[in-house]
Amino acid sequence: MLKNSKPISISKLITKISHQRIENSRNVLFLNLLVYALIAGAELTIGAADHSTALIADGQNNLTGIVSVIALIVGLTFSKRPSDDFHLEGHWQFESLAVFLAGLGMFLVGLVCVWEGITRTLALFDGNYTAPLKGQAAYMAAISGISMLTLCWFNHFIAQKTQSSSLAASARDFLSDALTSTGTMLAIIGASWFGIHWIDPVAALLLGCFIIWNGCQILSTSAEKLSNGFSPQLRSEIIEKILTVSGVLDVMFVDGRYSGNNIIIEAEITLANDDSLAKSYRICKSIEQILQASLPVLYCCIQVKPAPKSASSHPQAIVWKPL
Ligand SMILES: [Zn+2]
Repeated sequence: MLKNSKPISISKLITKISHQRIENSRNVLFLNLLVYALIAGAELTIGAADHSTALIADGQNNLTGIVSVIALIVGLTFSKRPSDDFHLEGHWQFESLAVFLAGLGMFLVGLVCVWEGITRTLALFDGNYTAPLKGQAAYMAAISGISMLTLCWFNHFIAQKTQSSSLAASARDFLSDALTSTGTMLAIIGASWFGIHWIDPVAALLLGCFIIWNGCQILSTSAEKLSNGFSPQLRSEIIEKILTVSGVLDVMFVDGRYSGNNIIIEAEITLANDDSLAKSYRICKSIEQILQASLPVLYCCIQVKPAPKSASSHPQAIVWKPL
């Protein structure tokens, strides 16, 4: 009995748009993966050939980027799966979960960066400093920085267009990597041209803090979604939209939650006491359609409350308030 029943009427259009968005995001992520692999491979090879620890460190940082991109691709692949008996709403939350893991990865990379900055600053007081990059190692760091910055912009652009949280996370990751490579470049210029050796560890320390901050931003946005948080501003916008539907006398309660990038709305509305069941159902469906026109609403779960009998015959003059 339960197996054959369809408990939720999920919007097919929103599902189709979401699948398309996931497919596009996944293609961009595969491109990210390719660039990360090429840059990290080149940096590790040239770094090893030139005995340059700074370039090897930058290459290792980009290797962690590969791990987070793979996590996002796996998350998106899972989130595309259709609903089953265990996940009636679909598997959209896997994207938020993957974004959370990518944010956690960035946070840990930032901690390592700060730790290295501190140990290298302490080493500086003892008179030990790492040799600056030379020759092709310096060029490689520059190429890495420019590629990361280009991909950061590209990911950010597509993320804005498609509202993809995985690409937004990836863009933040690229920005950190671009700045890490820029920091390496600054250290090269500072140390080789001006003989200032403290730039390198201080840059590592500052960049570490920046990566931690960026990681925390990703962690907090995905944690908000995973913990059923919903913006109060968006909630009041939804209430205003529901009130524009003809037949709705009042909105008692609205809450929303995210399933991946999609939204599920729960609401309680007041309708006229003498409205028929069929009319009430039509009103609920128009609410759903109006919300779906501007928001990726998978479905609405609306409870209808009849207004007191005296009030319902004069909807304009309603002063009825809930308990
Ligand atoms: Zn499932």
